[in-house]
Amino acid sequence: MANSAQLDARSGPGADVILREATLLDPVAGIEGSHDVVVRAGRIAELAAPGSAEDGEAETVDAAGLHAFPAFFDPHVHLRTPGHEHKEDIETGTRSAAAGGFCGVIAMANTEPPVSTAADVEALREAAREGASVPTGFLATVSKGMAGAELTEMAELREAGALGFSDDGLPIRSAGLLRRALQYQRLCGGTIALHEEDPELSGDGLMHEGSVSAALGLAGVPSISESTMIARDAAIAVYEDARIHVQHLSAAESVEATRAAKAAGARISAEATPHHLCITDEEVRSLDATRFKMNPPLRTEVDRQALIEGLRDGTIDCIATDHAPHAAEEKELTFEGAAMGVTGLETAFAAVHTDLVLPGTIELGLLVERLAGGAEPFGLERPTLAVGSEANIALCDLGAEWTVGEDGYESRSANSWCAGRRLTGRVLLTVAGGQVAFRLRSFSLGVAT
Ligand SMILES: [Zn+2]
Ligand SMILES: [Zn+2]
Repeated sequence: MANSAQLDARSGPGADVILREATLLDPVAGIEGSHDVVVRAGRIAELAAPGSAEDGEAETVDAAGLHAFPAFFDPHVHLRTPGHEHKEDIETGTRSAAAGGFCGVIAMANTEPPVSTAADVEALREAAREGASVPTGFLATVSKGMAGAELTEMAELREAGALGFSDDGLPIRSAGLLRRALQYQRLCGGTIALHEEDPELSGDGLMHEGSVSAALGLAGVPSISESTMIARDAAIAVYEDARIHVQHLSAAESVEATRAAKAAGARISAEATPHHLCITDEEVRSLDATRFKMNPPLRTEVDRQALIEGLRDGTIDCIATDHAPHAAEEKELTFEGAAMGVTGLETAFAAVHTDLVLPGTIELGLLVERLAGGAEPFGLERPTLAVGSEANIALCDLGAEWTVGEDGYESRSANSWCAGRRLTGRVLLTVAGGQVAFRLRSFSLGVAT
């Protein structure tokens, strides 16, 4: 990514590697078919005819039968630092990202304390330069301390390197506060990412309000809690000619509200998570129900189908994991008491590949496009396989079957929504920001040096 100046990672030597006879797929750049991918000093130097690249000094990887995609970009992760390093930190969270094929992530600001000052942003950027395996960007909060009352010093935060702003974890309840934030955005830039939820409609809800919540006797969060806030905020954004990004769409009504806002000319982008695309609130009936407790909640099959349609028609720009690590003791509780959130970085590609691509619901190219689609909403360049670009590559074995969690996780937490599931498709090697950021241990067999 050309503007990776705004992202921070541990610096190291640029990769010199040849992926021999890889099957390439980069639908946005129009790159397809078998090539030798020659990476020199961290850049894609050449896409040569299969088998033709000279070995030279570079490490050569036998990639015959493997797929090389533009590496993925996740605009929504929780790295839990400062304050909750027992769940995750920059080092473990970005290792987890690299293992999932991601070449960049954007960290949310709902830490403890929340990221509300320039000094907070600077400290995180410094920590990322020391320990991040993949380029990492940081959002700052919209409101001071996420209290929802006063705006942060947005211009100062931008100067300190905040990529944008979000009170994620909480909605921005006050329309007036959001309006003022969008007015400041005109002066200082930075996309505002919104967790859309009306607290008065969500109430004490624990899961989607519908037939499953009724059967289980659990308080529900209605779909309109999300969609009415999207409609409100899109209208404010249009009025102020501002740029907003809607996080983790979960409901059919929300897809419709976003589609209508785009049609009306709003500068709005949207994301959906692998878990909302792959599973429904039926999972909450299971014995392991707290594994499926998150906010926004899993919804119905109708909602899931609407999200898939939104992914297809471009209403949903990107897949974002909302990777939200929690310690075991925060999940091994009653459904009412358990923490909200699931991890997702290491399984995003494989889960959607297994559940949506293999059955033919969506094309592989669409998955690849949407997994790399999270950079542009934040003003960053989309990862690409085009010659001359910084090397950001996910090398995947589409036929590899594996059981989630069997070999542990790179994340410090194990609250994966698909733990124990058998998935097809695995990331073997990730080049992120021009450096080799991840290599699956068992994959060393395929490597000749
Ligand atoms: Zn959220
Ligand atoms: Zn989140």
